[in-house]
Amino acid sequence: MSRNGNFVLVFLVLTLFLAAGLYLGGKSTFPLASENYAACALSMDEIIKSGLGDVYNFEGVTDFEEPAFHYLTRYSVDGDTLSTPLLETVPAELHDEQTDSALQNQAWGIFTELIPVQDRQMVAQFNVFTDGYSNTLAAVDQTPQDLSDWMLEVDIADLKDKDALIFTMIHEYAHLLTLNATQVTPDPDTVKDPFNLKLQREKAATCDTYYTGTGCSHEDSYIQAFYTRFWTDIYDEWAEIDELQYGKDDLVPYYNALYDFYLTHQDQFVGDYAVTHPAEDIAESFTHFVFSPKPMGNSIKEQKIAFFYEYPELVELREHILNGACSLEN
Ligand SMILES: [Zn+2]
Repeated sequence: MSRNGNFVLVFLVLTLFLAAGLYLGGKSTFPLASENYAACALSMDEIIKSGLGDVYNFEGVTDFEEPAFHYLTRYSVDGDTLSTPLLETVPAELHDEQTDSALQNQAWGIFTELIPVQDRQMVAQFNVFTDGYSNTLAAVDQTPQDLSDWMLEVDIADLKDKDALIFTMIHEYAHLLTLNATQVTPDPDTVKDPFNLKLQREKAATCDTYYTGTGCSHEDSYIQAFYTRFWTDIYDEWAEIDELQYGKDDLVPYYNALYDFYLTHQDQFVGDYAVTHPAEDIAESFTHFVFSPKPMGNSIKEQKIAFFYEYPELVELREHILNGACSLEN
């Protein structure tokens, strides 16, 4: 989400699945667009770069104020179709944006262009919000009434930054792909109370596979395979750092430790945002899988990108997304 608001990360990390866009501490060295997409002038490299940001750099940030956040409209989703919008109560200066249904449909259209309808059946609601330009670009979350249904949320003020929006939408989609109810059985207790460390531990103890923080992953899920392969040997070290954020007002020690962890294991992560959580790591790795050429090397971060090539349905999905991104950029 926000590319300049480092402190927004405080909020994002804690509300895990809101994230995207802050991303990545540079050092992404993938070559330029793959030959397949050169014809449409899609620069995959530009999309990757749009997601870069120095997540843990607090220098020069003083008196950060959380930007005002307003929901404007909520739509029910049926396939490609949006319902009549429900209007939220907003300040008068947002009325024009709130009633600009053409622009809101355009935002939805970006998502539907990128993701085939059969791959987004979990999306039951589309919410339009704004926190001004930049900051949070898009988010996903489970609907409170049914945890197998999800909401896609887009900031209407951020549609012009096409590369960043495409990157963010794919990051958010990766959460839908890897955390939906066919992959992870949602647990209502931890969804309701995600910062309760004791509860997390109790739930994890009853789950034979990877516990994502909000549910027990299925044996054959993407995240279980990803976790087993890439996280089992670093998880304990990471979890000790992760605990520093629970119930704390001062999150600087947490971020410092997390950044040190990233520096220690830099060859394992596509960017520094990916270390915030295994669920963020798989989402970031998936986004790099989509917008990077197939890796030639064998570093762990390259293995994480190559991981998705083991799933033919994801290779097909990648093609679809890239074709969609081509048509959006042209
Ligand atoms: Zn995220």
